[in-house]
Amino acid sequence: MERKKIIAGNWKMNMTPSEAVKLVETLKPLVQNDEVDVVFGVPAIDIVPVVEACKGTNIAVAAENMYFEEKGAYTGEIAPAMLVDAGVKYVILGHSERRDYFGETNEDVNKKVLKAFEHGITPIMCCGESLEQREQGITMDWIRQQVKVGLQNVTADQAKTMVIAYEPIWAIGTGKTATSEQAQEICKGIRDCVAEIYDTDTAAAIRIQYGGSVNAGNAAELFAMGDIDGGLVGGASLKPDFGKIVNYK
Ligand code: PGA
Repeated sequence: MERKKIIAGNWKMNMTPSEAVKLVETLKPLVQNDEVDVVFGVPAIDIVPVVEACKGTNIAVAAENMYFEEKGAYTGEIAPAMLVDAGVKYVILGHSERRDYFGETNEDVNKKVLKAFEHGITPIMCCGESLEQREQGITMDWIRQQVKVGLQNVTADQAKTMVIAYEPIWAIGTGKTATSEQAQEICKGIRDCVAEIYDTDTAAAIRIQYGGSVNAGNAAELFAMGDIDGGLVGGASLKPDFGKIVNYK
């Protein structure tokens, strides 16, 4: 099955609203490629101006987080309906920084994934192992657990439309990319896990990204691997290099 590649930037906690609009103006002409889905994951306060600046382009906007309740007394949180109303199409959920610094659990991520689907937002659900876990040889067990819990009560039809991002924590922001073979091995393991939970059709449809020090120099090799359907890009998504990653071929 031919899966369309999806290349998403994760701006993290960078770019004020006015800087964000300037960055969009810089990147807009560089990321034109109808063969891939292009997504900018931006801080909550940048969503409205970035959606506006991306109007009429091929760029979809993602939030970097979302709460799993509808509305109410959750000071500081962002509701799914707010994202939808602002024009958001995707939401990055369970990034390792959210898990490590803000204590998000697999169960929290699962609640958020389900809530995103309720509102028609496509989740980009992140998973990945630490260096210690890799050295202990428990990478795949750990990731299978993240994926299984994250997908609880998600239907096969929903799963087919979503994105899983495999991001080894030791490769994030370190300049240490997983080799394309290492990344492929785990992305294939994730696809096998999806096939076990659902069926081979679902596994063939779900898109699995690699993330962790993706740059203009390594994107083509990573994205050529059979089970890698694009990337979740941090540092390089803030630079014109992101255009080269989108046009990696
Ligand atoms: P990086 O970040 O590309 O800067 O390593 C990736 C991510 O955390 O999504």
